[in-house]
Amino acid sequence: MTSQSPDSASPVGTQHRCAPVAATHKYRAGILGATGLVGQRLVSLLANHPWFNLTEVAASERSSGKTYAEAVHWHLDAPIPTPARGLIVKSLDTNLECDFVFSALDSSVAGPAEESFAQAGYPVVSNSRNHRMDPDVPLLIPEVNAQHLDAIPLQQKNRGYSTGFIVTNPNCSTAGLVLVLKPLADAFGVEKIFVVTLQAISGAGYPGVPAMDIQGNVVPFISGEEEKMEAEPQKLLGKWDGVRFVEAGVGLSAHCNRVPVVDGHLECVSIGLKKIASLHEVSEALRNFQVSAELAALPSALKNPVVVLDEEDRPQPRRDVNSGHGMAAVVGRVRECPLLDVKLTLLSHNLVRGAAGAALLNAELLAARGFLRNRIASENRSLAEPVLS
Ligand code: NAP
Repeated sequence: MTSQSPDSASPVGTQHRCAPVAATHKYRAGILGATGLVGQRLVSLLANHPWFNLTEVAASERSSGKTYAEAVHWHLDAPIPTPARGLIVKSLDTNLECDFVFSALDSSVAGPAEESFAQAGYPVVSNSRNHRMDPDVPLLIPEVNAQHLDAIPLQQKNRGYSTGFIVTNPNCSTAGLVLVLKPLADAFGVEKIFVVTLQAISGAGYPGVPAMDIQGNVVPFISGEEEKMEAEPQKLLGKWDGVRFVEAGVGLSAHCNRVPVVDGHLECVSIGLKKIASLHEVSEALRNFQVSAELAALPSALKNPVVVLDEEDRPQPRRDVNSGHGMAAVVGRVRECPLLDVKLTLLSHNLVRGAAGAALLNAELLAARGFLRNRIASENRSLAEPVLS
């Protein structure tokens, strides 16, 4: 990972609305749903972040008014970062002292809450499913479809938002799958995908699946998951044509299973390609998938986000889930498929690449492209560094 200042990652393209603030300022980040599993990961990833400073945490009435340390049921091995411990958990009122918010809210409340924050002028970087498929909301994996950020001005116009907007990241299983499909789509074209997932229990949030249901067992049903996995890749691999998202039109069938693994979603994937390719060419396309210089300059980005393992029994959740600080999609067992063309196994960290790390990378790209702004500077320029134009 790299760690440059926001303004050292120069804005690219012509669609940027404002430039990042000067390097002496970090953007102030808030987290809605900070006490949940994804929120905790965000708190942890934001500690010592070079561009962002966590200033606000918000959650339900059960938590608000308490210090973060009192409210959270902390699940990570590393302790709660010291600066976060004493933050007072707020409610979802749109008066948080921050420049943008991450949303890690339960989907029962995320939809209207995210709209309220966007309406109140906050950029919202969401993990939740509620707005992913909205026709004017980018569903973003920076390595796959950074161009979709061009939809933000139209979203603001459509909804009457001034400085606010909503950007989402995909479902945790979709994130790893599409990261692996992208280099194959670019090199050979992708026609059909058949995928079977083995998904970790942390994907269900906390307290999640009862121990009596999952201990020594597999549950072959995750509500809504197959529908999300079949829909979201179409948007991610499709194009923004200036007015609408045009879907990729890939044939896709998903089976989703919950397995007794703590972190890391494994996926067994068969892929039909448009062009004939050897197994060697497929492996090399994955191994050589390299991000642009713009993305490589983002603090959480990996230069090569797909890792290919040659061992016949990898990837495995316990051994490989933290590959690339949890931001890699780890691929193994690339082999011929008698039904489609090629089959492989992939693994990604559902709470990092599939959630908190994905949202953080999205926010970094938004900062680098000038979509975030310092709300103090814009409200009272004498209090802060001027916003560069
Ligand atoms: P979680 O552990 O259940 O956490 C949910 C969070 O939402 C908590 O902070 C909770 O606050 C808050 N919340 C619940 N009801 C609320 C209300 N009425 N008002 C305000 N806040 C409320 O869930 P999670 O696994 O972190 O997931 C968070 C979101 O990310 C969900 O939308 C989920 O679908 C999505 N997601 C999860 C994963 C994953 O792997 N887990 C991956 C991708 C996306 P309290 O603690 O105060 O109750």
